[in-house]
Amino acid sequence: MVDVSKIRKFNDASDYTRHFIVQKEIDKYLPGGRHFIDDAKITDLIAKNDSNPAPDPIKVREIIAKSEDKCETLLPEETAELMKVEPNSELFEEMRAAADRIKHKVYDNRIVMFAPLYMSNLCVNGCKYCGFREGNCEQKRRVLTMDELKEEIDVLAGRIGHKRLIAVYGEHPSTSTEYIAQTIETCYNRKVAAPKTGAPVGIRRVNVNAAPLPVEDLKVLRSVGIGTFQVFQETYNRKLYESMHPSWSVKGNYDWRTTCFHRCLEAGVDDVGFGVLYGLCDWRYELLATIMHARDLERWFNIGPHTLSFPRLEPASGTKVPEESPWLIDDKTFARILVLARLSVPYTGIIVTARESPESRNKVIDHGMTQLDCSSNIAIKGYSDFENESHQEKTRQQFMLGDTRSIDEMVRYLASRDIITSFCTAGYRCGRTGGCIMDALKTGREGKFCKINAVLTFREWLDDFASDETKAIGDKLIEKELAAIKEWLPKFFPSVMKQYEATCKGQRDLFF
Ligand code: SAM
Ligand code: SF4
Repeated sequence: MVDVSKIRKFNDASDYTRHFIVQKEIDKYLPGGRHFIDDAKITDLIAKNDSNPAPDPIKVREIIAKSEDKCETLLPEETAELMKVEPNSELFEEMRAAADRIKHKVYDNRIVMFAPLYMSNLCVNGCKYCGFREGNCEQKRRVLTMDELKEEIDVLAGRIGHKRLIAVYGEHPSTSTEYIAQTIETCYNRKVAAPKTGAPVGIRRVNVNAAPLPVEDLKVLRSVGIGTFQVFQETYNRKLYESMHPSWSVKGNYDWRTTCFHRCLEAGVDDVGFGVLYGLCDWRYELLATIMHARDLERWFNIGPHTLSFPRLEPASGTKVPEESPWLIDDKTFARILVLARLSVPYTGIIVTARESPESRNKVIDHGMTQLDCSSNIAIKGYSDFENESHQEKTRQQFMLGDTRSIDEMVRYLASRDIITSFCTAGYRCGRTGGCIMDALKTGREGKFCKINAVLTFREWLDDFASDETKAIGDKLIEKELAAIKEWLPKFFPSVMKQYEATCKGQRDLFF
């Protein structure tokens, strides 16, 4: 049973909206009232770029080299210089190739697979771009019960083969921290038999995307084994933020949201996931602010973002913002942002969600990205209600998905590009999180552990879930990967093979 004795309870939505925010937990991280997102500096850097748009190739190459060698977060000034490089130029191709090399150094040739799981669409907030916002009568409201959640897990873990979830919640007292903790526990406890081998399978890592929480609430989520706590800032531009999030709402408080990860790290939830909703503001502003945010966390805690996500505005029920915002970005700009992000925060995981079209995701696979979702359904109870995971219903989901490819198709596509799909969740279960993993990532050590664990979990998935066609191409890739591990770690290789052969015989969840 989760111990929730130290967290506050709220009578209803209005009580929650008025009393949820803890001001002293904001003030602590904004000493002297100064915000770490330096609006004047960002505006100045953008204005300088506008008045002097030609990049200095020598400077650009020095910055690329720094990012590659040190694997440390760049200065905003350095990223601003890289931003001058036009996407179709040779210099940009040098940047893209460096981004891909850094990705390989830190994460090897793998892409981590996850699935979104929406728990509820009740919300006390009024975000103007979101289908879940309070007062949107087009949305059918629902909160998953624990029994319904088990049905969802049966499909996600038992039919599709997912091991890693991002659990998503509206902000509402009916989905309080206690509810979030119960859902995490339910996900971990549910076990099902794999369709092809009958092996026991289940969810091994539950990341959470929810509203910012106070420290005591975060400690509760830590106690039930939360993976990454992900909160998207939407926009770092305070004025635009305030125009999108009404001041009467909890989310209307910019400072509560921007200090959320400081509280996470204080509470010991040390894998934190940043994100911006691209399309609400000038992308250059967002990227420079993201760097300032990362640097401030590093200054306080020596830990930066575990992941950066790059959601783009998508059509949603009852709103025109996703179609009419003046800041919408095209695919080329999206790809450019990913390269800049990889070079600017070299050690971080980069997530590209199924909001993107298949063409856009295929294109950016060699732009430094590390994680994607597939066979995704974001309707509440969408996995177990619809036969086909790609089925979408606007009135039951927050926005519409762009890439509805199945996991089998995606795994096969990635393998055709020599990329191994990893279902590994070992890192956080071995304590490789937060500060611990930062060092391992920067030196490339984590990538090597990950290669071995990627092979073991890929083997599991191929045997438990893959079609014959995907299995055939996957088997060939595994042969190559094992050969690479043998060459890289000749002495350790027999131990790897022991675990690999046990996995082939049906043992599950073996990892290093
Ligand atoms: N309600 C919590 C919050 O807002 O922090 C939890 C997450 S909300 C359900 C998930 C995220 O979806 C939001 O942070 C936002 O970035 C994104 N989102 C909302 N509306 C969207 C839209 N129309 N297109 C794409 N992403 C959207
Ligand atoms: Fe609610 Fe989150 Fe949607 Fe805003 S983005 S309306 S907080 S679910």
